[in-house]
Amino acid sequence: MTGRDLDPALRELRDTCRQIARDLRSRALAVDADPDDVSRHLDAPSLTLLRTASTPKRFRQEDLPLRFAEYTDSCLARALANVELARGDAGILSANTGPSLAGLAVDALGDEAQRELFYRALADGRTWTFFAMTEPDRGSDATALTSRFEPDPGGGHRLTGTKRYVANAARGSIGVVFARTGPTALSIRAALVQCPVPGFSGHALDMIGLRGARFGEMRFDGVRVPEEMLLGRHLPTSQRGIWGAGRAFNVMRVQIAAQALGLAFAISDYVLEHRPRSPGAELISARLAAARELLYDVAVAVDRAPGDPRPPSIVKLHTTALAVELTRWAERALGAGSLLEHPLLEKWCRDVCAFEFMDGTGNILRLHIAPDTAPVREER
Ligand SMILES: Cc1cc2nc3c(=O)[nH]c(=O)nc-3n(C[C@H](O)[C@H](O)[C@H](O)COP(=O)(O)OP(=O)(O)OC[C@H]3O[C@@H](n4cnc5c(N)ncnc54)[C@H](O)[C@@H]3O)c2cc1C
Repeated sequence: MTGRDLDPALRELRDTCRQIARDLRSRALAVDADPDDVSRHLDAPSLTLLRTASTPKRFRQEDLPLRFAEYTDSCLARALANVELARGDAGILSANTGPSLAGLAVDALGDEAQRELFYRALADGRTWTFFAMTEPDRGSDATALTSRFEPDPGGGHRLTGTKRYVANAARGSIGVVFARTGPTALSIRAALVQCPVPGFSGHALDMIGLRGARFGEMRFDGVRVPEEMLLGRHLPTSQRGIWGAGRAFNVMRVQIAAQALGLAFAISDYVLEHRPRSPGAELISARLAAARELLYDVAVAVDRAPGDPRPPSIVKLHTTALAVELTRWAERALGAGSLLEHPLLEKWCRDVCAFEFMDGTGNILRLHIAPDTAPVREER
């Protein structure tokens, strides 16, 4: 699917995002330099609009202009919006408050009361959320996570464990935490957790890329989790926990693929602005256009069959590799010392590495794409 195949509403959404992206770009270096100072930018019309657009209609505090009203409705709309916004700057997108990845998990697993609680907590526009699955020694193999929900004699559960590389780990006020209630993968459940809470501590890690997201570590030492905060209680056993969130992960993966592609476009735009006749420019433009067509096709496929992990894995693998390749091309095209002369480009060269790890590394995506031919999987 090309840009020409988009219906008028999606084209309008795309064009609006292109305009907003300019404002995002103007804030990119300030947030990278001082990620703790991001609050200063939260009332910017662009960030307010993005927060509102990623909130379901019935929980929105204000009306949305134009086609933003449809932003949350389809994977295709999210994908094309994310390409254009990340073409402004992907770092500031990840620094924003709002539902983010936790919202997708709550939408997939939460009941009406839990959704209400989650989205009402975000109504002030100044609340960050967290999606806590990864642990210090349990990353790719998420089903081996060791955090536990144990029965609390006083009712509900107690959460114990450590999570790492989680966005907004120390500053998030509400989010989703995954832990196990028993030995099997089906016993991995998710709960809504509000912080600060007794038994919780969190701190930010010193990251080199996407610094505005304040990735960090969260420790839970017997944190009380009331029964009504456990997500998926209204769902069949097989859909309550980590498997039930599978569809949300597929949408998430397309979104991350879109951001990596947007970053690749940003790098290409930047290089061509500074050195219009850069060697290989035509080929790069053609490859970017082809990657965007692939992204749109995959997003349409996810809208039709959200349970299939292969298309999102293919596109994320492709766009993250392409974005990294573009950083190498940019360094060659602009010449020795270019990263010192072009701080935005230098920041993007750092940001780009993050996409490899978010929501599945390249190797894990390869296992999703060709599960029957992957000898590595048999070793696990
Ligand atoms: C910028 C960033 C943002 C993140 N945001 C979040 C977040 O908000 N919430 C959250 O919960 N987590 C988050 N993560 C964590 C992310 O999901 C993990 O980093 C990822 O799952 C990889 O886990 P790991 O770092 O433990 O690496 P490992 O799983 O230890 O992998 C190390 C290397 O081994 C390879 N490998 C592992 N297993 C296999 C296998 N079976 N076959 C072949 N190769 C294999 C991997 O591909 C990788 O190259 C984030 C990470 C980063 C870097």
